Amino acid sequence: MNPVATSGRIQAASRVECRICWYVYDPAEGDTVEQIPPGTPFAALPDHWRCPQCDAAQEMFLPLADK
Ligand SMILES: [Zn+2]
Repeated sequence: MNPVATSGRIQAASRVECRICWYVYDPAEGDTVEQIPPGTPFAALPDHWRCPQCDAAQEMFLPLADK
């Protein structure tokens, strides 16, 4: 069993949403503002990465539920 998948942490392919401005980070697309290459999981973003729209810290992002 994968400990990452069961610990409640954000999974590699999960999109996450900024609680402040609703910007969505999609790992499949990366982030052109910070030059994050497509395929980069949210958990693998550099520590200095912040919301490109409102400068919120990574702690302000919540995983988006896939429906
Ligand atoms: Zn934001």
